Amino acid sequence: MPESVRTEIAVIGAGVVGLTIALRLARAGHEVVILDPALPGSGASHGNAGTVADYAVQPVGTPAVLRALPSLLFDRNSPLAIRRAALPSLAPWLLRFARQSLPGAAERNARVLAGLLSDAAPRWSDLAAEIGGEAILQHKGCIYLYERAADRRAAEADIAFRKTLGVTVELLTPGELAALEPALPMAEGGGAFFPQAMFMTDPGQMVALLAKTATDAGATLIPARADHLLRNLNGLNLTGPDLRLHARRVIIAAGAHSRALAAQAGDKVPLDTERGYHVEWDMPAPRLSRPVCPTARGFYLCPMQGRLRVAGTVELGGLTAPPSPHRIARLTEGARAIFPGLGAPSRDWMGFRPSMPDSLPVIGASAEGPDVIHAYGHGHIGLTLAPITAAIVAALVAGKAPPVPLAPLSPARF
Ligand SMILES: Cc1cc2nc3c(=O)[nH]c(=O)nc-3n(C[C@H](O)[C@H](O)[C@H](O)COP(=O)(O)OP(=O)(O)OC[C@H]3O[C@@H](n4cnc5c(N)ncnc54)[C@H](O)[C@@H]3O)c2cc1C
Repeated sequence: MPESVRTEIAVIGAGVVGLTIALRLARAGHEVVILDPALPGSGASHGNAGTVADYAVQPVGTPAVLRALPSLLFDRNSPLAIRRAALPSLAPWLLRFARQSLPGAAERNARVLAGLLSDAAPRWSDLAAEIGGEAILQHKGCIYLYERAADRRAAEADIAFRKTLGVTVELLTPGELAALEPALPMAEGGGAFFPQAMFMTDPGQMVALLAKTATDAGATLIPARADHLLRNLNGLNLTGPDLRLHARRVIIAAGAHSRALAAQAGDKVPLDTERGYHVEWDMPAPRLSRPVCPTARGFYLCPMQGRLRVAGTVELGGLTAPPSPHRIARLTEGARAIFPGLGAPSRDWMGFRPSMPDSLPVIGASAEGPDVIHAYGHGHIGLTLAPITAAIVAALVAGKAPPVPLAPLSPARF
């Protein structure tokens, strides 16, 4: 039987979201325990594309995606695919996703995302400076690559819409794109450049710095899983195989694994996962100066420290099935279509994006009381949104007004 621990605030999950929250709360003088059975940042937070994507205002569900959904979902080679075995359990999520992809809902979700993302870049600059991660954070923008002229034509309305939401973007001719990224093959459709976006040359290292700074600031990391959450008269009990803990407040930040904990707090949240992959090639100079997303392929080519990482694609397939070798092979082939000289990959990885049907995170107090705060569901942009999420949670704990309206992010919104 593990020894019983008491704390003021327990943060469940040591991903980029939980760690940033723990750092903010510890700095504000709270007694904080972070719970995670795995190494800090070893979930989705280290294997991603590393972009601080302030331009990612479009939800995954849009009218265009809805129109293409049947062919997308049942083509094993498409950037968005589904594991057929998971279809029955995914059906309720997919129905909600389809509803959220209708024009009115998609536009509303984009506006909420734009509000959350508007100061993502300066928030990350400040955080990186605070934790000693300035050298990992590169201020060189990100690029969408249009391999065919048709890809660019298809993107024009999307780019115009992003501008109306305050995104800074410059359309590039094929020549301008080649001047920025000479190693890319000539792209008929040119590209779009998001100059204010940033990227991390090693998101895993950044999260390790976050963990170190949070513990230096006084937070305690306990390597244990919280399986059961139970309210009692004077707080909450968290238990698991190696855990007996009593806290006055609990923050659920367990990424894609948060749904069962949320339900025990009394909140039924339709969280699921979009599985994503990366494949890496070790190389001293990884060919690009900034992340490049060939939009039709649904992945990013990312220059990382000592390696090229190709990360992305979406596979709806739940939390328990093993990685799909087919998805890894498709990612590898896609990278070789851009850089034909790539040999055998050095490694591959699969991770779980915590995904809501409306592409909006769940941030806010439990319907059963403010002693439980939800902070998960960031989908494709959890790295980008970690600092604002922590600012919102810190405001809620302090009883102050949060920096953005919380109704669209409420755990009770579905
Ligand atoms: C291929 C890919 C590319 C991506 N690219 C980008 C990008 O470029 N930019 C961007 O902003 N985002 C990107 N993302 C999304 C981003 O990685 C995620 O949104 C983000 O990492 C989620 O962070 P998190 O802390 O919520 O979850 P996680 O990093 O998954 O952390 C959750 C933690 O909770 C722990 N945990 C789970 N259950 C329990 C429990 N019961 N008790 C205790 N601990 C528990 C886990 O062990 C884990 O460490 C990408 C994701 C993928 C998969």
